[in-house]
Amino acid sequence: MPDIDYHIIFVDDDPDFLLFINAAMSSYPLQEKNSHCLKLHYLSKALEVIELVNKLINNNEKIAVLVSDQKMPDMMGIELLEKTGSLIPETFKILLTAYGSLDSAKYAINNSLLDQYITKPIDDPDNFAILINNALNAYHDRMEKKQAEEESKMYIQQLEESNKKIKAMHKAAEKITHLAQGFKNLNLDEVFGLIVNKLPDVFNAKNASLFLLNEEDNNLHMARSNFLNEGYRIPMETQSTAPMMVALSENRIIVVPDIKQSDTYTFLGKNSLGNSCVIIPFSIGTDENTTGDILGNAMKIRGVLNLGKIENMESTDVVLYSASLIQNLMGINILNANLYQKTTRMALIDGLTGLYNKQMFLEFLDKEREFSVRRDSPFFLAFFDIDDFKKVNDTHGHLIGDEVLRILGAIFLKAARKSDIIARFGGEEFAWIIHNDNKEECFSILERIRNEIFTTVFPKDLTISVSIGLAQYAPNNNDCMENLIHQADTAMYQAKREGKNRTVMHQESDPHQCLTGNPDFIDKPSTS
Ligand code: GH3
Ligand code: MG
Ligand code: MG
Repeated sequence: MPDIDYHIIFVDDDPDFLLFINAAMSSYPLQEKNSHCLKLHYLSKALEVIELVNKLINNNEKIAVLVSDQKMPDMMGIELLEKTGSLIPETFKILLTAYGSLDSAKYAINNSLLDQYITKPIDDPDNFAILINNALNAYHDRMEKKQAEEESKMYIQQLEESNKKIKAMHKAAEKITHLAQGFKNLNLDEVFGLIVNKLPDVFNAKNASLFLLNEEDNNLHMARSNFLNEGYRIPMETQSTAPMMVALSENRIIVVPDIKQSDTYTFLGKNSLGNSCVIIPFSIGTDENTTGDILGNAMKIRGVLNLGKIENMESTDVVLYSASLIQNLMGINILNANLYQKTTRMALIDGLTGLYNKQMFLEFLDKEREFSVRRDSPFFLAFFDIDDFKKVNDTHGHLIGDEVLRILGAIFLKAARKSDIIARFGGEEFAWIIHNDNKEECFSILERIRNEIFTTVFPKDLTISVSIGLAQYAPNNNDCMENLIHQADTAMYQAKREGKNRTVMHQESDPHQCLTGNPDFIDKPSTS
């Protein structure tokens, strides 16, 4: 059954007149003149019309023309038009009326209840059919006009909305551009600070937390937050439906305008996110990408910024736009600062042993002195020199010599406490700032390391020993660092003179008198 585009309803209580109309319409090629499918209804009661109109409207059908007799037993035509007027405002309405009752027709036209009236009796059936055809066309035009009006209203509304969005985007872009300039020449710590303290403004967000993915343990580590304590660590495998994990693994920005209404995600720390949140992942320097540090190691930064407690969130388009700008800004600046940090670290670190170089060590030593004076706490400086290292090189070559240095570096790094500072001071000399104010303890720490080195089997089954000189910095003497270095060096040379592979403590009471430890057992120095 073909769809019916337009309905035409005729109602008259006079069955003869209905037959007349039917005949008039049948003989006229109304269907051919119209590109629409038509269905004509011939009814004898006003109430039937109301019923039909309701049914058709419910089915979303279009009633193009309603032709009603004025004088009907169950209802006057005008009343019928009044009753159906609001249901079918666009329908072309025609009233059939006798000459005698034209007043009501005029009233109806004045009140927009009616489009046209026809006086009965009707002589020419063709004329009547043409009239209906014209009504049909009028309805069609009316609908087209209405549709055009609705469309243009919709376009204007869309235009206004998109203008509003563009304005908001401009504003966000301006803010972000301004912030982007602030990122220049920052170290990693400052970059993190700017991300969690300034970027939230762009989104009217109160809370921010920045997490970075550690590829080694596959955990998200919190780098910085403006409201959380540091040290958070979340394994990627767990909490896989947390928006942060989804954002990162699918690499897409997540905007949640109403957290309470969202059942897509499992929110971690719901309270800190408030009603709305934006989760922005970033990933820079992929495996295929050749971004790397100066040693050529591929570098990849992946992380996610959580923004919560957002007041009056902008439309999703605007938020996504701002977030996409920020994605790159964060990624590039973290990568940059990371590379910069690595580069500067390279200049401070001895490449062979991984220990600080001499220049860095001297800077640390100066800081240490200031600290020691301020806190009135002493510290120790130890000097190590490999015994007969020249022989190692001469016998086995420089590469083996280098390997020995590298292994020694590892032994030192393992033995040192986090707060200790240890450096390769020269070719085969090492220096160590020991944070321990107890002389005996210090001495035995060094003796333990000396023994460890001595008992370590080095390449080519080599046995390596070191001579160690130890000196204490006492803040009340306010001595200079050159003197301290000299004292440690002197003690070390005394260890060499006394037969090597031993620790000698410089005696602070008398700069020329030194205390020595026996190489074969750990000898506690006397303090007298
Ligand atoms: P002593 O017990 O008196 O310290 O004797 P020594 O042979 O260790 O001392 P000396 O100062 O005569 O020689 C130090 C050697 O250390 C000479 C040098 O070739 C070697 N050396 C210094 N730096 C490096 C390095 O980076 N790699 C290697 N393989 N050898 C180094
Ligand atoms: Mg030497
Ligand atoms: Mg030596």
